[in-house]
Formats: sequence, structure tokens, C-alpha cells
Amino acid sequence: MILEGKVALVTGSTSGIGLAIAKALAAEGARLMINGFGDPAEIERECAELGAVHDGADMAKPAEIETMMKRCADELGPVDVLVNNAGIQHVSPVEDFPPEKWDAIIAINLSSAFHTTRLAVPAMKQKQWGRIINTASAHSLVASPFKSAYVAAKHGIAGFTKTVALETATSGITVNCISPGYVWTPLVEKQIPDTMKARNMTREQVMNDVLLAGQPTKRFVTTEEIAALALFLCREEAKSITGTNLSMDGGWTAQ
Ligand code: NAD
Repeated sequence: MILEGKVALVTGSTSGIGLAIAKALAAEGARLMINGFGDPAEIERECAELGAVHDGADMAKPAEIETMMKRCADELGPVDVLVNNAGIQHVSPVEDFPPEKWDAIIAINLSSAFHTTRLAVPAMKQKQWGRIINTASAHSLVASPFKSAYVAAKHGIAGFTKTVALETATSGITVNCISPGYVWTPLVEKQIPDTMKARNMTREQVMNDVLLAGQPTKRFVTTEEIAALALFLCREEAKSITGTNLSMDGGWTAQ
């Protein structure tokens, strides 16, 4: 098992991509802290299944992030594998975009990764080993209308990834982002009604003409495919992969 003795923290891991990554890391022996919102009984079941500890820190709140990082260090040990994955979406024309939604998306999808990273890097440097994996998006490379905050945050995380990769390059730490195209998760399912409204379309039209329109494979990426790539980045063989933005988007950004 490649992560025996390592501590992993995955933000936003009570659902979707984060949950799949958490499962993959736990299966390779990582001591795991999961994070995110959800039904307490379901979270407890997930913790039991993964042998994980859950921290409900709100990734929009730097003080809660700091408390979570300290708790992780105290209860499991300093973080060796940090996966910044928590994210939300809001779909709206820029002139109607609620400022509080803008602030929340920037805080959760971008600034939270700055806070976890700044708090995790010192111990990684000390150990001369670390893996930081940021869930970005095809929207870290290209834009779509009505997603101004999300696209800004994802372009931001791609730049942040490169910067920290350069700062930690001689410390045995790699920093990368994975950029999925459309993955079938609750995040995607939830944006269908707003997209129907914004574009005056039916559910089927949104699925085929919007979501999968730009994805040449014409199928959704799976959470397990992303988890397998995240796991590969944790391997010793991946130690020269740093500062990259790894697309897993069915050819979307090749166009
Ligand atoms: P999801 O809605 O299934 O999961 C999001 C997770 O983040 C949940 O665990 C949720 O509880 C958590 N979360 C939300 N707000 C939080 C907060 N304030 N504090 C702590 N946790 C919070 O979504 P997903 O599709 O699995 O998305 C995960 C990541 O993947 C996001 O960063 C998203 O932008 C990115 N992504 C998703 C897709 C896709 O098509 N689904 C594509 C590209 C990138």
C-alpha cells in the first residue's frame, strides 16, 4: 500500500469527486481526515467505512480551516497528502450575479486552498515529502458564459498551483491540479435548473447541448477516473510531476 503511514486530508469529501478521492487514498493505507457538509448519519457511516475522522470546517471561513488543520495534526499527524477539492457553483449572467455568491465561490473554490496550503507546507518541508492536489476544472483553462466567479476561481487555482510548485520544488513536495470536464456529481446535477432558466432550455437540451456539447467523448467523466489520477500523483514515480494542470476532460480543452 503506497500511503501506509501517511496522513491525507481531502476537503469537500462528503460527496462526488472528493469522496471518490478519499476512498482511493484510504484503500492505499492513508490515515484520513474528511471534510464537507451532509447528513450526519451518512458522514458517520462514511467515516466508519474509511476509518476516517470528519471535520465539518466551513471552507469559506479561514479560522475554521486553521482549527481543522490543527486538529488533523494533533489527532492524525501533519498532512502529507493535501487535496483541495471543496467547491460550489452558481450560474448567472454577470450583471445579475449576487455579490455574496461571488464572495462565497472565491472563498471556497480558491482562498481555502491558500489557507490549507500555507498551513500544510511547513511540515511537508520538514519531512521533505508532500503531495498537494487541487481539483481545478476545464474552467481553469477555458470559460463558459454565466460562470464568472467559478471560472475566475478556477483560473486562480491553476496559477496558485504553479506558484507553490516552484516554491516547493526542491523540498520533495509536488503541487498539481487535476482539471476534469463534466463529471456526473451532485454539483453538476444542481446547476441544471439554473442553466435551464438562464438559457431557456429543457433538461435534455442542457445535458446534451450545454454540458456534453463541448466534451468530444460525449460522456461524463467518472469520479473513479479522477481518483485514480490523484492516487497516481501520490506515487514515488510521480515525483517529477509538479506545477502541472492535468486535464481529464474527454478532449474538451483540445478544441
Ligand atoms: P459535490 O457537490 O458533489 O461535492 C462538493 C463537496 O464540497 C461536498 O462534500 C460539499 O459538502 C463540500 N463543500 C461545499 N461547500 C463547502 C464548504 N463551504 N466547506 C466545506 N465543504 C464544502 O461536487 P463535485 O462535483 O464532487 O465537486 C468537487 C470539486 O470538483 C469542486 O471543486 C468542483 O469545482 C470540481 N469540479 C467538478 C466538476 C464536475 O463536473 N462535477 C468538473 C470540474 C471540476
